[in-house]
Amino acid sequence: MSPTAVMSIDVEDWFQVENLKRVVGRDTWDSRELRVERNMDRMLELMANARVRSTCFVLGWVAERCPRLVERIAAAGHEIASHGYDHDLLTSMTRDAFRADVTRSKTLLEDLTGAEVRGYRAPAFSITDWAIPILQEVGFAYDSSVFPTIAHDRYGRLTGMADRAVVELRPGFHEVTISCLRAGSRGLPWGGGGYFRLIPYRVFRRGIRSILRQRRLYVFYIHPWEIDPGQPRVEGLGHTSRFRHYIGLETAEQRFASLLDDVRWSTIADLLADPAYGSSATPAGAGG
Ligand SMILES: [Zn+2]
Repeated sequence: MSPTAVMSIDVEDWFQVENLKRVVGRDTWDSRELRVERNMDRMLELMANARVRSTCFVLGWVAERCPRLVERIAAAGHEIASHGYDHDLLTSMTRDAFRADVTRSKTLLEDLTGAEVRGYRAPAFSITDWAIPILQEVGFAYDSSVFPTIAHDRYGRLTGMADRAVVELRPGFHEVTISCLRAGSRGLPWGGGGYFRLIPYRVFRRGIRSILRQRRLYVFYIHPWEIDPGQPRVEGLGHTSRFRHYIGLETAEQRFASLLDDVRWSTIADLLADPAYGSSATPAGAGG
């Protein structure tokens, strides 16, 4: 049976979130309380209990400061992938700066784990067409940064996606999209984030099950800071940003634990190793 649901974690700390960038400057990162290690260790514990393996997109900045954490994630059987080094949006980087950023993060992670890093996820999903050949040249085999068919003020777009969940963008290079729930001609972002923490759990799970029932791939994402209600609260955020970041933090750990039990999860590496998804042939089951 083909893997049909992917658990993915963007391993970054609470102060690195795009949503908070306006009030938490990059120059303050070194003085912020580092909480990613304990939060990620808790997630590793929950995943071990549920016998779930995930794909972890680790930020290079975090890997440099918490190298033992990266080793623990890999030793527990999870796939290590890259979330870039500095969490800059692609829209704010030159192509050379992007190449340097992803090369630095890939090398760092490979030196720590001794294993090839094949996957990339853009900060705040800000992927764009020019980045794809660079990712492939640097040695990545897939990107997972696209929400198909939704309107959002920030999320990136790629051409040629044709509303499919897994697309071979170039020979040997795949895009694995984050899931949306179809609602009329559009899609609701159903892969995690504020929706996951806001909507009643049973409603969210029903959405996942309807995606899986249609034999469509389901890809979920979460961050370690989302299960940390004790994280420092920052001042000066607008209403929308405050809501997006702080909604549902108290209950997210329990929801995450339930989700681990309620769905049969896989890694992106395992998904792409399956001929139904990773080969150039794309059967109907891989669509949507
Ligand atoms: Zn991120």
